[in-house]
Amino acid sequence: MLQITRPALRPESLSFLDRRAGGTGLLIDGAWVAATGGATLATLDPATGMELGRIADASEADVDAAVEAARRALPRWKATTPAERARLLWRIADLMEARIDDLAELETLDQGKPLFVGRWAEIPGAIAQFRFFAGQAMAIEGQVIDSSINYQPEGKQVRSWTLREPVGVVAAIVPWNSPLVLTAMKLAPALAAGCTLVLKPAEDTSLTALLLGEIMMEAGLPAGVLNIVTGLGSRTGACLAQHPKVAKIAFTGSTQTGRAIMDSAKQDFKRITLELGGKSPAIVMPDADLDLAVPGVANAIFFNAGQVCIAGSRLYVHRSIYDRVIEGVVGYGQGLAMGHGLDATTQMGPLVSARHAERVAGFVAGARRDGASVLSGGDLLGDAATFMAPTVVTDVRPDMEIVREEVFGPVVVAQPFDDVDEVIAAANDSQYGLASSVWTSSLSTAHRMSSAIEAGTVWINCHAMYDASLPIGGIKRSGWGRDSGRQALDSYLEWKTICAVL
Ligand code: NAD
Repeated sequence: MLQITRPALRPESLSFLDRRAGGTGLLIDGAWVAATGGATLATLDPATGMELGRIADASEADVDAAVEAARRALPRWKATTPAERARLLWRIADLMEARIDDLAELETLDQGKPLFVGRWAEIPGAIAQFRFFAGQAMAIEGQVIDSSINYQPEGKQVRSWTLREPVGVVAAIVPWNSPLVLTAMKLAPALAAGCTLVLKPAEDTSLTALLLGEIMMEAGLPAGVLNIVTGLGSRTGACLAQHPKVAKIAFTGSTQTGRAIMDSAKQDFKRITLELGGKSPAIVMPDADLDLAVPGVANAIFFNAGQVCIAGSRLYVHRSIYDRVIEGVVGYGQGLAMGHGLDATTQMGPLVSARHAERVAGFVAGARRDGASVLSGGDLLGDAATFMAPTVVTDVRPDMEIVREEVFGPVVVAQPFDDVDEVIAAANDSQYGLASSVWTSSLSTAHRMSSAIEAGTVWINCHAMYDASLPIGGIKRSGWGRDSGRQALDSYLEWKTICAVL
């Protein structure tokens, strides 16, 4: 029986909840306001199921006010110098760093992840986004083009060049699994490019976005440059995505919602970037260093309770070492301490909500019905039935739902293979193409497989290493475009061509 108790909150978190979790958490044109008619939604602690407070439930009118504010702020923000934008982004990063413990505690409270994950990985990752794009703001450049136009008037010259300009108002829509860092991945490049924004956090995890909003106001971001609307995806999110004055939708979430975003974008030909789902292979070759590979592939799926888009959820192991690796992964999972994320001993927290936990458990039940073996985990635990122990599924066929669909929980599907061509074909036999990892001590195998695998990222002897400088995103049904890196900045900029007779 898993007993969950929540440790006491820091005074900073209690004061934040007092301030923002009473339903006055829309940031519109620099002011914190309630939704029209005072509508609110409950936000829960996923570990206990207890209500933490209420977030504003933004209506169509609230979304419209937020987009109009972003639109009004655009000319002024666009006209700031790169150095002004860089200074502000850097200041935001400094203030986040000063509040890192507040951000980490709130993220755990709202999302469930162990405190150390937020404190040492995700919040620093969010801060790094602002610092990286502060630098990128200073490196935006067009080109002078030596064209071949040959009909210039007598005595005149033709000169042609390009400018980079912000795309305009951006709708940033983010999911609940790593709320703050995924938010930072949209906000930092958009602001660096000179865009203004309306942010829609996930309804289950809006709290750190609201604290970030406070921090950005404190840093001196002009009113209207960042607006935040909280509420349901089906209403607030849909209104935002469809708003005719939104020029670009920067979306992270499920492949299914990604399709709805494409529909919303098509009327006005909005620019879109889509960071969607995955079913990423982790491949252990016979020459792998197993001291590195076993904890590596286990962590690739059990980190953040598997609620990671790039999780290594399909494990392929060479038959010669299959039993050893599977035994190691099961043992690693069984050794992870589950509990409330704020408990310092916790290594794995709950799933984000009872609804999501039921969905994850449904996939495992389906696998059992299809004839797979569940070597560990698979059942829901805890008072709120939101915990699932690390789960290892074997004896599967490639056509089973558990092999093909994204589960988004601590559930790995393991399969043996005999040769490299077979495992490349199996890895690529997926609707997704987000990420992958290959564990090998052979340089030539590493090169060969990293070319052959159909994915946006291939890690060698590691999994889920990321940095603000490295583009991340997928192919196939894992999405369009990239977050992070120079490529992300480009996606918030348009090209303008100037051709002049001088
Ligand atoms: P989701 O698609 O249900 O929701 C994501 C966001 O979209 C939320 O803010 C939600 O409120 C909003 N939304 C829902 N319906 C909408 C609509 N019709 N119009 C506009 N907005 C709408 O996804 P989720 O369940 O919150 O997140 C999990 C998914 O996110 C997984 O599939 C995961 O793989 C994916 N993800 C991808 C990446 C990546 O970088 N590729 C990163 C993290 C998560």
